[in-house]
Amino acid sequence: MIAGGCLCGAVRFEINVGAPLVVRHCWCRVCQYLGAGNGMVSAGFPRDAVTASGPLNDYVSRADSGSTMHRRFCARCGTHVFSEAEPRPHLIFVRVGALDDPNLARPTANIWVKSAPAWAYLDAGLPRIDGQPAPPEI
Ligand SMILES: [Zn+2]
Ligand SMILES: [Zn+2]
Repeated sequence: MIAGGCLCGAVRFEINVGAPLVVRHCWCRVCQYLGAGNGMVSAGFPRDAVTASGPLNDYVSRADSGSTMHRRFCARCGTHVFSEAEPRPHLIFVRVGALDDPNLARPTANIWVKSAPAWAYLDAGLPRIDGQPAPPEI
């Protein structure tokens, strides 16, 4: 069981698996907005494995790919917790900073590297993918 929540504690979630399907450090422009300039690390899980409670707001937008995206964040403190893409309802991405133990989710790739600022620090030991990689298989 993996657990986490937002900064203020109003939102809590549990994930009924031992490890994420995939963990990526994303440098798309949206992640730079939400990550205060840096890229954002997100871990993918089967949607069915995640249960959440608390006041989550949903920011809906359309990605460059045309997919409708749902980004869910605490209504009280604003911490971003989940991201979901409508074409992939079986997957949910969890912001790794919201895990009680972020050590459980080490990134395995940098994605959207073409959007990263010139000063970005990219782990030299990880693959660099210019745009969006294929979703994980489950
Ligand atoms: Zn909160
Ligand atoms: Zn991103």
